[in-house]
Order: sequence, then structure tokens, then C-alpha cells
Amino acid sequence: MHTGLEEEKNGFERMAAYYAERAKGGVGLIVTGGIAPNRAGWVGPFSARMTNSGHVAKHRQITQAVHDNGGKICLQILHSGRYGYHPLCVAPSKIKAPISKFNPRALSGRGVEKTISDFVRCAKLAKAAGYDGVEIMGSEGYLINQFIVTKTNKRTDKWGGSYQNRIQFPLEIVKRTREEVGENFIIIYRLSMLDLVDDGSSWEEVEMLAQEIENAGATIINTGIGWHEARIPTIATMVPRGGFAWVTKRLMGKVKIPLITTNRINTPELAENILSDGCSDMISMARPFLADPDFMNKANENRSDEINTCIACNQACLDHIFERKTAACLVNPRACHETVLKVETTTNVKRLAVVGAGPAGLSAAVTAAERGHEVTLFEAKNEIGGQFNLAKEIPGKFDFHHTLRYYQSQIRKYDVDVRLEQRFSAEMARDFDSVILASGVLPRKLDLPGIDSPKVIPYYKLISENPDVGDRIAIIGAGGIGFDVAEFLLHGKSEELETAEFMQQWGVDQSFNNRGGLTEPNKAVLRKEIFLLQRKEGKLGAGLGKTTGWIHRATLKKAGVKMMGGVTYEAIIDAGLQISVKGQSKVLEVDHIIICAGQVKNDGLFAEIQSIGTDVQIIGGAKLSAELDAKRAISDGFKAACAI
Ligand code: FAD
Ligand code: NAP
Ligand code: SF4
Repeated sequence: MHTGLEEEKNGFERMAAYYAERAKGGVGLIVTGGIAPNRAGWVGPFSARMTNSGHVAKHRQITQAVHDNGGKICLQILHSGRYGYHPLCVAPSKIKAPISKFNPRALSGRGVEKTISDFVRCAKLAKAAGYDGVEIMGSEGYLINQFIVTKTNKRTDKWGGSYQNRIQFPLEIVKRTREEVGENFIIIYRLSMLDLVDDGSSWEEVEMLAQEIENAGATIINTGIGWHEARIPTIATMVPRGGFAWVTKRLMGKVKIPLITTNRINTPELAENILSDGCSDMISMARPFLADPDFMNKANENRSDEINTCIACNQACLDHIFERKTAACLVNPRACHETVLKVETTTNVKRLAVVGAGPAGLSAAVTAAERGHEVTLFEAKNEIGGQFNLAKEIPGKFDFHHTLRYYQSQIRKYDVDVRLEQRFSAEMARDFDSVILASGVLPRKLDLPGIDSPKVIPYYKLISENPDVGDRIAIIGAGGIGFDVAEFLLHGKSEELETAEFMQQWGVDQSFNNRGGLTEPNKAVLRKEIFLLQRKEGKLGAGLGKTTGWIHRATLKKAGVKMMGGVTYEAIIDAGLQISVKGQSKVLEVDHIIICAGQVKNDGLFAEIQSIGTDVQIIGGAKLSAELDAKRAISDGFKAACAI
């Protein structure tokens, strides 16, 4: 998985540390993020490529560090084809990708030959750099995939036309690579088993390709699910865990080399079940190793309750990559920052009070305790978690339970003294050397006529108490919580999703009767009439995550949620919610109005503690409520604990 370090100053030194931690953590085989075999194959301008001895020298830092820590590592060769976000991009045919503004140039016959040679050169250079093998990226809609499918390959030469012709491009790459690198070098081929685009490969073609790839000399076949332009979620949090393992299972027994399955596998127990169900020979995970470098060691030592589990939010990994920032991890701010964020044992043990057991306070408390401080964690409620206790009830956010389970295990491990149902007061600060104030946020109160009506329900009450609500509902505020509340109203409290139900909802054909594995999605049954409102003009949900916002919008649209921008709220009246849009007043006849109008910081204690003279830091929502999310809260907590 690309980390953004590939292109950064000191990136190779940092990548070496990042991969070395995972090798030390017990990972069997590492595959790097995609490295282009030539300029045209760049994912974006000046992205990483492996084309000369200068590149080899840099990569040696990585392979050396991984081998020193007992690991093995393959370099992924990725040619982005028409997905290249730059003017030099090429493709089998001159057909623009729906997700790029750049028009690709069609490769000439000589250009195809040259590209194959570039793949082979890249593999040879990888071997020279000390890699144990390469992964040839043949899925996700990148160049190789574009050759295989008629929708993107309209060529009339020997690289186009029949299926046999269209798969010659990957077959020649694998065959010629094997000839050049010799027997004892791993070649993984990432095969697109479920394209999820119109006119994608049929199942018969997938099987045929797998067998030919085996014959061409691949060591292992890895699973690719969905082109990047597909409009079906494949890894985000609402995808059922292990929900695509059935695809690899269809290929089991059709080839002799090992098969790897992938996508939304995030615990050792799930991985074990998938293996024992005969879905694959090996399991691949990317994001779970950002979340916890010691995943495998903990699994081996029956300490899986200590694993910091990836919650599939994409907020700090994929969203960062799309924003051209270095990847990190919402639950583990150290990911990809190993050389800059270090947890060092303290030589000056302090009595530390952490106020508030939301994500910010939990992160601060366990990190400070890990460093050796004596930590007491105060929480006014009767459970740890803060707003994560609401988040975990939202459909598709079931994995948020894991984060709280992880913190419970760390609290036990590092002996944090947790005081539930104890509201901290400034006076109590006198008993401590230092205080970290993580008292979070309070819901914004609206000054609107009729706001005290029984029709009005604040979001936290709706989610925690789940009261009966009518069939017609207006939601005031369309931020992350407004969208989540709409899902909650439609589907009720979160539970583990069923794979079959998800596939039907999104139109994935598990019997694979159609090309690309697509079918008509089930029509949503409209149970409620929901209005989602904001004052701003423009698209609702514009501030949601880049890689998940479209899924939230599509889900609500399918369910018939009416999204309205440019709204002025006038009053809550017996008939419902009175609003005006473009100067026109009207009444939305609703039974209930849910308030999701953002939050304000709960920082009252800060000045009081300061006035007593105890050292105090303020973090998370208590410090700044604007643009707060758990990523910042956890990172703030971690950094504050490291600074004590
Ligand atoms: P909080 O979570 O508000 O925790 C503060 C804690 O301090 C509370 O438990 C409170 O009881 C306690 N406290 C306050 N005063 C005292 C006192 N004097 N003494 C003792 N205890 C005190 N974020 C994301 O990044 N991704 C998501 O997908 C996401 N989904 C969400 C969905 C919902 C429905 C909600 C409500 C939030 C969601 N969030 C999400 C936001 C995320 O939960 C917050 O950003 C995060 O919880 C803020 O952390 P915090 O620790 O600063 O504050
Ligand atoms: P938010 O994203 O800031 O949204 C607040 C909403 O309230 C906006 O739609 C805003 O739109 C509206 N609003 C603000 N002031 C208002 C007022 N005085 N009257 C009426 N409406 C008002 O905050 P949130 O939805 O409460 O979420 C809190 C944090 O949790 C966010 O920062 C978010 O990132 C995080 N979160 C993330 C996710 C996720 O999936 N990543 C999910 C949930 C929460 P207008 O001003 O246009 O009306
Ligand atoms: Fe997983 Fe979210 Fe971390 Fe990405 S940011 S690795 S999705 S927990």
C-alpha cells in the first residue's frame, strides 16, 4: 500500500523504519506500495519509479532493514496506465478514465514492447536491490487490467481483439520476468478476480487467465477486487469483514500455486476462519498493519485482545494519499512516522491525571502509562469511550467497538487507574503533578423558536436511547454526524453486516452470471421520509472523507433521503419544521427534528486548573471543536503524553 513516503524527503529512511517494524512484528511477507516501471506509469507527477541504479541504492535501505528484522519483502510494480494523474499517461487505447482529467495516449506496438521490457527491467533492478520478489499489479483497473478488458482495449493489433490476444500483455510480462530473474525469486501476480465494472472479465476468463499466469511462471496469485472507478465499496468500513473472500474461494483448486485473499480482513480470528473455510492459502492485509505493527506476534502469542484493530475508516491512510499527504492511521498516529514519533520510557515519573476517557483521553492515558508515568483517568460517565460510544452504534461502524476493546486491554496492561463516574474538578488537580484535559465537546444549542418542543431530539439522545420516532423526520445539520444519524434512522443500531445482503444492496452478482460480477442492486424499501438539511449552499457531505463520502451520499440517495442545502431554519411548530429556501417559506411536515448542528468545546476547567498552578495541557475536542475527529483526538493524546 502506497504510503506517500515514497516521494518524500528522507522517505526511504522512514520507509525502512516503517517496514522493519512490521517485519519485526512477525509479518510473513511484505509487499511495498506501487513503484512505476517507467515515467508514463507514474500514479502522479514525479511519483516513485524504479528505472536505474540510483533507485536501486535507495531501495537497499528498505530491503536491508527488513532482512535484518527477519522479514521478506517484494516490490510491487505498478503501471497506472490511464489512471496516471499526469499528462504523460498512456493506455491500450485513447479512452479517458472517468476518475482522471487526463486523456491517455494510446501505446504504439513498439510502445507496448517497450513497456513490457520496462516491467522486466524493474523486476531485475528490484532483485539487485535485495528484494525477495516482485508483485506485478494486474488489477484495480491499472494498465494491465486495461489491456485485458474490451471496454478499455479497442486495439486491432496482436494486443487487442480476442481474449487470448488481450491477455498476452500480462502473460509476456510474467514470462519474460521469470526468464530474467531466475527460479528462486518470488513473482506474485495480482489478478483482478472481480472487476465490478461494465464489460469486465467473465468468471471463465478469470480462471483462464489464472491458469495461463501460473504457466507463465508466477509463484503466487493475489486477489484484486474492483477497479478504482467502480461505484461499489470494496474496503470501506461498511463493507462486511472478509466480505470478498468468496471470490478467491471460487478459484481454489483451479491452479496449483498458492492463492492470497484480501479486503476487509482485520482480525486474526477472521483470517483463521477464512483459511479454514478453504477460501485461500494465504491472507493479505494492508491497513491492519498500519494500525498495529505487532499484529502477527500478538496473534501468535494469543494476545489478540491487545491488537489495535483497523476500523476501515480510511481517514488517515487512503484519504491522506488522495490528498497527497503522508499516510498515518487514525488509531495509530505512529504509522509511517516511526522515526519522528517515538514512545520513550520516562526518567521523570509524574503523577498524571487525564480528564475524560474519550479517544483523546484514552490515547493520552495509555501512552503516558506505557512511558512509565503514574496515570489516573477520570471519566464522568459510567464507561470509557466518550463519543465513540455513539459512533459504534452507527450502521457500518461496528468495528469501532474494537478500538474501545484495545484501550481496555492497554489500561489493564499498563495499570492505568480508571475512575468511572467521577467528574474531575479543578480542586482535584492539587493531588497531581500534571493534568491532561480531554473533556471533549458539548452539542451546540440552537436558538430557534420552539426548540424545547418534544418533537426535538438531540443526536446523542437518539443514538444512545433509541426512542420511537415517527416516519417523517428532519435532520438539522449535514456534517459527519448528520449523515450518520440518517443511516441510523434508516437501518437502526449497527451490527456485523451479512455479506449476501451487502452484495444484493450494491448489485454484486455472487453467482457471476454477468461480466465484471455486476447485477441490478436491490431496490431500497422506503420506510421513512427523511430530510437532511444544511444552511450552506452546494453539495451535502462535501466535507466527508474523499474515499468514503461518495458511499455515504450514494447510500442515502438510494434510500430516498431528501438532501437540501441553502436552508434557513425559522421555527419548530406543531406542524413540523418551518424553513425558508431562496426566500420562500415552507413547512416540512415532520414528526421529529433531530439536531446535529455541530459542537462546542468543553474547556471550562482549563483556566481553573491553570489558576491553581498545576501543569495542564488541553487536547482533542476540548482544545478545538472545529474540524474535530477521532484522528486528531487520538493524535493529540499521543503527542501530549509523549511531551510529559
Ligand atoms: P469526547 O469523545 O467528547 O470525550 C470526552 C469525554 O470527557 C467524555 O467521555 C466526557 O464524559 C468526559 N468528561 C467531560 N468532562 C469531564 C470531567 N470534568 N470529568 C471527567 N470526565 C469528563 N470521528 C471520526 O474520526 N470518525 C468517525 O467516523 C466518527 N464518527 C462519529 C459518529 C458519531 C455518531 C459521533 C457522535 C462522533 C463521531 N466521530 C467520528 C467523532 C469522534 O467521536 C470525536 O471526534 C471524538 O470522540 C472526540 O474525542 P475527545 O476525546 O476529544 O472527546
Ligand atoms: P460538522 O461536521 O462540523 O457539522 C455540523 C453541521 O451543523 C454542519 O452541517 C453545519 O452546516 C451545521 N451547523 C453548524 N452550526 C449550525 C447552527 N448554528 N445552526 C444550524 N446548523 C448548524 O460536525 P458534526 O457533524 O457534529 O461532526 C463532528 C465531528 O465528528 C466532525 O468534525 C466530523 O469530522 C466527525 N465525524 C466524522 C465522521 C466520519 O465519517 N468521518 C462521522 C461523524 C462525525 P451549516 O453550517 O451549513 O448549516
Ligand atoms: Fe485502518 Fe482507519 Fe487506520 Fe486506515 S486510518 S489503517 S482505515 S484505522
